[in-house]
Amino acid sequence: MSPLWESGLNPAIIAGFLKHLAAMSAKNVDSFEFCQQQQQLVGQTAVAEFARLSAELAATSGMLDWTITGGRHSSGVPQLSLKVGGQISLVCQRCLSPMSHLLSSESTLLLGKDEADADEVEARIEDESLDVIAGSASMDLMVLLEDEALLALPLSPKHAECPGDLPTAGAEKAESPFAVLKKLR
Ligand SMILES: [Zn+2]
Repeated sequence: MSPLWESGLNPAIIAGFLKHLAAMSAKNVDSFEFCQQQQQLVGQTAVAEFARLSAELAATSGMLDWTITGGRHSSGVPQLSLKVGGQISLVCQRCLSPMSHLLSSESTLLLGKDEADADEVEARIEDESLDVIAGSASMDLMVLLEDEALLALPLSPKHAECPGDLPTAGAEKAESPFAVLKKLR
């Protein structure tokens, strides 16, 4: 029996694999308990795993880093702080070719007990920077993260200088009378 095969059965490796599986499936949480216990989840998810986000992108390679932290707003309402970031590839709205974009977004969501309570909290808090949603005993955090990423996308992404812009830049240089004068001296 080869040593390689034996290392494949190493309990530490199996434990690591099971931990990985647990992390992958730990998407649905009791959002109220998560906030109550001030839990935090930190992870990295392939961009390609977010179907709705992927549909908006030029390429679905890369990873998003994220952090979700449970806590309590000063009003006593449970709150989730979301942070998501990573390098993504958008479609330039001018030349329609891919453009790299650094996604970086943070937001705070307050949790109502249900839709009606969420409306009530929203009216009571009167803070435009905070969103209030209905919490749930089984909330899919990946959906929240994807919403966060989608909302953070620029409405009309454009290259600072499109790859096809080079002829224009060349024409400008040729038109400069100072450059022509310099050459004549
Ligand atoms: Zn462009």
